[in-house]
Amino acid sequence: MTAVVDAARPEGRLTLAVSKGRILDQALALLSEIGIEVADIATSRRLVFATSDPRIEVMIIRAQDVPTFVEYGAADLGIAGKDVLMERERSELYEPLDLGIARCRLVLAGPHDGAPGGPRPRVATKYVRTARRYFAARGMQVEVIHLYGSMEIAPRVGLADQIVDLVDSGATLRANGLVEIARIADISSRLVVNKAAMKMKHAPVREFIARLARACAARDAHPAGPRRA
Ligand code: ADP
Ligand code: MG
Repeated sequence: MTAVVDAARPEGRLTLAVSKGRILDQALALLSEIGIEVADIATSRRLVFATSDPRIEVMIIRAQDVPTFVEYGAADLGIAGKDVLMERERSELYEPLDLGIARCRLVLAGPHDGAPGGPRPRVATKYVRTARRYFAARGMQVEVIHLYGSMEIAPRVGLADQIVDLVDSGATLRANGLVEIARIADISSRLVVNKAAMKMKHAPVREFIARLARACAARDAHPAGPRRA
């Protein structure tokens, strides 16, 4: 793989890609715990931000794109959901740390009064590969239908018999008359690291991982502190 060469990025400066959406607030809170504050994030339309630590810049991008940016070296490190990482075909990334944020679970769900859906039920999901792997491992014949969102309505409108989706409280499932049938995976956000950066920027990368690991450990030792879930 050809790495992105960024002449504007000084040696030793680290770029961290963070998912937009549900992960962002908790990721920023964790960074704040290690003294990294990102300014103007709410008001700015920029995607790359300087931080209070001159050695670290933060890039805010779509959740599904974080592993790609890190794999190609456009970012040295990233924070991405395990759901997104599991869905990748092959991974050229180090995944040194479970950050314990944005916890949820990937589940198979269906109508509470639902019939099994015949010999080959249809399952709607954003997580096509993960779902196929799950059913194949169990020898279950299903037709996987790829949706980009709003999985929960698929059973109600007859598009699918079941769905595979992320669930936290289960409120969205309930609101759509669905119940959890099986838990496929526990999900949380992970720190990922570009392999070349791990070699070429070994000291700053190692230091950054260690700082985050300490912050996670401190939080887990004092659950009253920064919110865990
Ligand atoms: P997108 O709609 O672009 O996928 P989301 O904000 O819905 O963005 O999801 C981004 C990431 O947040 C997911 O990859 C997952 O790791 C995490 N996430 C999604 N839904 C939940 C949830 N209900 N609770 C906790 N974390 C979640
Ligand atoms: Mg979403």
